[in-house]
Amino acid sequence: MQGEAKIGIIGGSGLYEIEGLKNVKEVKIDTPFGQPSDKIILGNLEGINCAFLPRHGRGHWVIPAEINSRANIYALKKLGVEQIIAISACGSLREEIRPRDFVLPDQLFDRTKMRVSSFFQSGLVGHVGFAHPFCSELTMSLYHSAKSLNLPVHLGGTYVCIEGPQFSTKAESAVNRLLGFSIIGMTALPEAKLAREAEICYATIGLVTDYDVWKEEEHVTIKTVLNNMKANVENVKKLIKTVLPNLDRKRNCECATAMKYAVITAKNKMDKKVYNKLKLLIGKYV
Ligand SMILES: [Zn+2]
Repeated sequence: MQGEAKIGIIGGSGLYEIEGLKNVKEVKIDTPFGQPSDKIILGNLEGINCAFLPRHGRGHWVIPAEINSRANIYALKKLGVEQIIAISACGSLREEIRPRDFVLPDQLFDRTKMRVSSFFQSGLVGHVGFAHPFCSELTMSLYHSAKSLNLPVHLGGTYVCIEGPQFSTKAESAVNRLLGFSIIGMTALPEAKLAREAEICYATIGLVTDYDVWKEEEHVTIKTVLNNMKANVENVKKLIKTVLPNLDRKRNCECATAMKYAVITAKNKMDKKVYNKLKLLIGKYV
């Protein structure tokens, strides 16, 4: 299994497949945390082996709160993935971030409520650093590629992740704006946390479909939003193809060694069953 692909792509709303993949095969992967959202599609894109996973399943049938992110990230790790490009449709909380713009956030704010957000559990406790939730190296590669394609891209900003599946109230949207957040979505967490625990570089491309609910606009229809989503998906496919050849790199970022000092449970107190579940992630240290 290991060594199938170093680059993982997690598709969000509107992105359920990628054209141009060669030598495609679909793999069903079991994990100690259950089943991923769908079969993982392995293939070669622009000369790079990739693993593609539609987060909501093909046909979009999993709601954000019930995505089995632990299984998704674990499965990608099992395939040898070292870097994940995560696509997330989102709303804008700032005037200058317009629908159809791309945002590469550098911060996250967690407003999810009921999601399992760690591989650790009683019997084996660990704490990873998460001050910088996104890989800055991967983010910069995406930024340069987006610029080279003349895509409207914003570097940095805070992605506030809500539970959903409902959108925000006006009051919530106003507060999120007051707090200085840039974009709002439902899926970057707990993915980003789990990717860090799996020592996988993780970067989000926020695809802006609308102005959330804070802005009084006259002609916003569901049709407009869907058209924006469609245009975004076409653009992000171009971006992925452009960035891939630049991602073959030695990882000097903090993601690569995030678990080195994370585990704090004494060896004689470790639960063997939990250890076996986590061995893929921590086995090289503990
Ligand atoms: Zn990294």
